[in-house]
Formats: sequence, C-alpha cells, structure tokens
Amino acid sequence: MGAEGSLNGNASRGHSNGHSNSHSKESDDARHLIEVRQTPFKGLGVFAKAPIPRATRILSEPLILALNGGENPAEILSTVNKLSKEDKARYLELHPFAPSIRKDVVKKYMGKRWGDLTNWERDAIGVYDANSFEVGVYFLPSRINHSCIPNVHYEFNPAIERGTFHAVKDIAEGEELYISYINGGSRLRNWRQPKLDMWGFVCQCAACGNDAEGKKREERRKEMFELDQKLAKQSVYGTEMTAAQALKTATRLAGLQMTEGVLNRELRTSYHDAARYCLELGNVKLALLWIEKELAHEKICVGEDHPIFHAVSARRDLLKDVVAGSASLDQSLLECFH
Ligand SMILES: [Zn+2]
Repeated sequence: MGAEGSLNGNASRGHSNGHSNSHSKESDDARHLIEVRQTPFKGLGVFAKAPIPRATRILSEPLILALNGGENPAEILSTVNKLSKEDKARYLELHPFAPSIRKDVVKKYMGKRWGDLTNWERDAIGVYDANSFEVGVYFLPSRINHSCIPNVHYEFNPAIERGTFHAVKDIAEGEELYISYINGGSRLRNWRQPKLDMWGFVCQCAACGNDAEGKKREERRKEMFELDQKLAKQSVYGTEMTAAQALKTATRLAGLQMTEGVLNRELRTSYHDAARYCLELGNVKLALLWIEKELAHEKICVGEDHPIFHAVSARRDLLKDVVAGSASLDQSLLECFH
C-alpha cells in the first residue's frame, strides 16, 4: 500500500483543519475483529473476522517509521537505520515497490544510479515508497489494499499521535477492508489509474471494471467530477454560480457520493459546502442541519478525539447560538465556513 495522493492540476476543495488543545491519549481499537490473509491476486490483505459496524475505530496505530514527505532517499535510509532492531526487521517485512520517478530522485540526491545502490538500500527506499502515509509508515495498516470505493477511512490524529482507521460502512464477516490511496472519489479512471501506477498495480475494484456496473459508476463519477470542480471554482472565485445554485450543486454531489458509496471525508466536504451556502442565503436553521450532518460524518471518519471534530463542533455551537438568538450572523461567522 502507500500514501494518499495529492490533487494536482485541478482546483481542490480541501478546507483547513482547526486545532485544539487536546490531551494526548491512546484510544482503544477493534483489531480483534480483523485478520491478515493472502488474497488471490493482490498479495496480503486485511479481512473482517466478524461483522464490523460503521464508525468502528478498527485500528489506532503508532508509526513504526516517522518521516514526513520522504523525497530525499538518503533521509529515508538514515531514518530506517535509526530504528530499533525489531522495528527495522518489521519494516523490511513490508512489500517494497519504487516507482520509476524514484530512480531519478536517487540520482539527484545521492549522485548514484538506482542500480548502484545495495539491495538493502533499494528495499528500504521501496518499502517507504509503497507504504508511506505521508507522515510515515505503519506496520499492520500497510496490509490494507486500495479500492476506489473504500470501506475504511484513514486519518492521522495529532492529538493521540496515531493513525486511525475507521469503518465508513458496515463491513460483513469475511469482507476485505479497503482504504483509498488517492483522493479520487470524484475522479475518472484516466485520472485514478496513473496515480495508482505509483504502487505498481491496476485497480480491479467495481468502479474500475469494464462491465455494466463499472460503466455506470464511471458515468456517475463524470457528473460528480463536474459538480466538484464547479464547487471548487465557486469556493475560490465566488463567481461560478449563485449561492442557491451552489447549495443545489453541493446537495446533488452529496447524494451522488452516497449512491456511489464514496463515504470517506470527501462526502463531508459536500455537507460543509451545503452549510456554507445556506449561510450565504441567510438560512441559519438549514445551515445548522447541514453542519450537524458534517459533524456526524466526522465522528464516523475521524472520531470525537480528533482536532478536526472539535473544530467542526465549535462551528456547530456558533450556529446554535445564532439560531437561539444569543449571537448574530456576521462576516466573521461566514468566514468560519470558507
Ligand atoms: Zn478502482
């Protein structure tokens, strides 16, 4: 497995996350409900041993190798060398895959060709490339395969300094767990597959098939992409459409995401946009309903101990005050939703 891809070349609808002073604490997880097994074509995978209800924190996992970004291969090697003997052995158990771009980067930083590195160096760099979640490498979560219709959401939680993996839908006994390695819920195959080439596999999920279902999903994602881009431009320039049209667009996108089964944090962005445009229309009560949906979705994806959840909760409380008449809808409140 590997890192979440970044959205390049098109406007992105990401929003900054708020932070609060949470106390560090370790959270329980539900790893007793999963097992690692061989899959027919994808190497190892993680499976549910028992039914896992939506919103379950399946894993709360510390990094075995903490390294943000990891462009410089010399830095990867020195960080791996600093690991304990036990962690280094576990790290090197993971699947290595270095994409072709890595070979150019090695030349740039180390002045050597890829072929001049030792086997150990190639493996250590390849494990990072195939398994990094941007902040570093986890052991067990590295066994979770990719799907364009994931049933698990990953997020790093700085308050507990762990990666969390939450079920975003009910998972049946025997079902495989999947995360998305790319933020591609509203993207077409010709965008997704080149990103996935970085991990050296061709996606076989239901959204990538050439059967009737795959084609239907591709059509749906085409509409989702158009709506997503309209909202992204509206968010930046504010001239793409009226607030009423933007609200309709966000609502339509949320509906398509539900139908398509894209239930990770991309769905929450649509709820957030809907709340924002309700406020621009001056409809605070409706905005409150949308932010309640956003908050409920953050609880499912990241949990109540994440700073993201606290930030959305604080915005929800502000809106409650406006609805109750103890605060007014002013410019600073509107800006909280940008
Ligand atoms: Zn796919």
